[in-house]
Amino acid sequence: MDIFSEIKPLRAFLDTKRDLHLSIGLVPTMGALHRGHLDLIRVSAQENDITVCSIYVNPTQFNNPSDLAKYPRTFEEDKEMLLSAGCNVIFAPLNTEMYKVPSNLRFDFGYLDKILEGEFRPGHFSGVALVVSKLFNIVKPTKAYFGQKDFQQYKVISKLAEELLFDLILSSVPIVREESGLAMSSRNKRLSESEKQDATVFYQSLLLAKQLLLSGESIEAVKIKSKQKCEAIPGVRLEYLELADTENLKPTQLVSGNAILLIAGYVGEVRLIDNLLIG
Ligand code: AMP
Repeated sequence: MDIFSEIKPLRAFLDTKRDLHLSIGLVPTMGALHRGHLDLIRVSAQENDITVCSIYVNPTQFNNPSDLAKYPRTFEEDKEMLLSAGCNVIFAPLNTEMYKVPSNLRFDFGYLDKILEGEFRPGHFSGVALVVSKLFNIVKPTKAYFGQKDFQQYKVISKLAEELLFDLILSSVPIVREESGLAMSSRNKRLSESEKQDATVFYQSLLLAKQLLLSGESIEAVKIKSKQKCEAIPGVRLEYLELADTENLKPTQLVSGNAILLIAGYVGEVRLIDNLLIG
């Protein structure tokens, strides 16, 4: 496995692979890897000759400085995990490499980046779009892999790739969960054992919401019940639970195969998200 922290040598290395007509899969991450990330690596390794994993905690996508400061960083463990999952290249740049000049570039995706995560994390998706554009330009992947866990992010990146004519294929990989149902997340590393147990309430709320909706309850009634269920646990706070159309993320009342439930909230200081497709 080759490790690069600078763009120029990584580009030169990947050019030699492209000259041999080898395909390149890119898996962008912020490190502190878990089995969810490794699934993306495995799928990429199955579908491409070379898999590049980027590890970069991108400051421009954090709207909360304390969240950025406390984001877990476990580079040595990440390396071991990537090696065993079939990754070929790690790209782990410093901020000075990714932001050589201070950036005032902002992305506006209209409705798509103002709702759900965008409402609670203003500027987040602009920062995501900026760093993903940079990664696409540096790696020029054949395919890039993202998790369904960040469903709205996938929608934003799909729009980004479409509008900026990035010549690549995007792929979305299902959510990997703990046995408890808790969606795997780097932020789970900040939870105590009892908080991890408390955090399962978000997935349980999604399951209950789906069941209630399918039995004919309105989304408004389901939202009230979910809030009560979550906030019955001390330290848990629900930010939103929404039923949205998978195509455009507009709120929907239609409990169909084209709908998705999305949830976000806090356990203690740690903000978590999860989602569940109705179909
Ligand atoms: P992150 O390091 O949190 O930025 O995530 C990097 C990529 O891994 C994103 O595309 C995420 O959607 C994906 N990912 C994170 N958690 C999971 C999970 N539990 N299952 C599948 N993919 C995930």
